[in-house]
Amino acid sequence: MRVDILTIFPEFFQGPFEHGIISKARQAGLVQIEIHDLRAFTHDRHRTVDDRPFGGGEGMVLKPEPIFECIESLDVAPLAGRGSAQESVVLLSAQGERFSQPVATELAKLQRMILICGRYEGVDERVGEHLADREISIGDYVLSGGELGGAIIVDAVTRLLPGAVGNENSTRQESFTSDIAAVQDGPTSTCSSRGLLDYPHYTRPADFRGMVVPEVLFSGNHEEIRRWRRRTALEKTWRNRPDLLNAAVLSDEDKKLLAQIKGKDI
Ligand code: SAM
Repeated sequence: MRVDILTIFPEFFQGPFEHGIISKARQAGLVQIEIHDLRAFTHDRHRTVDDRPFGGGEGMVLKPEPIFECIESLDVAPLAGRGSAQESVVLLSAQGERFSQPVATELAKLQRMILICGRYEGVDERVGEHLADREISIGDYVLSGGELGGAIIVDAVTRLLPGAVGNENSTRQESFTSDIAAVQDGPTSTCSSRGLLDYPHYTRPADFRGMVVPEVLFSGNHEEIRRWRRRTALEKTWRNRPDLLNAAVLSDEDKKLLAQIKGKDI
């Protein structure tokens, strides 16, 4: 996958993509990330990228010209043919659709993803209307710029690219993931998420300052471990994110466990 990021702070990205899975995926050629400085697409002495809002009001707005010119220089498919070219131009915006694991999974299928990072009061609306094919928000809060959100999207999407994570099953079992392939738990899988939050994980030491790892995890009994993981995943989801239960794929066993959990909470 190729990722292009348009920003007025290109140096912001020195760091986020130089560690762990993203760095390895870049080295392996699974993802190519190019950062573009919007000031390079200005034509005045001051390299102006922003201007005052029409109609008055607070702050400054990112001008459309540098953003359009940058995209035009990148040979991106036109808006109408973008879907079939498996390309997407995404405007980072607090007003966009909410980013989520299903959106990350959708984006991971693209050949190319172009991210436009806003700043100041935002981006001239014509960018969202005539250049980008989607607007994405990373959550219901306002950030100073789109760069952090862009880095988050690149991270979440890259780890879903085939080969990016050593054991692909692990991305299928994670929180929010309802991958149908994971529903048939394979020999290396003990409990797929199926839309729930992930189950608790423990490693050595078994006893840390008197805080002990649950007995069942030493039992060697795969069926008991699977049931324990499913129950704890259901418990955590019920406690922290009950909204996810509506869309989760729940088996009859899950429904019984959930009824017990809810009973316990009353
Ligand atoms: N005036 C805008 C509003 O109230 O929605 C906020 C603009 S914000 C200060 C500047 C830029 O940060 C935005 O253009 C966008 O690119 C980015 N941004 C802020 N919050 C974001 C969020 N939740 N998700 C994605 N991008 C965000």
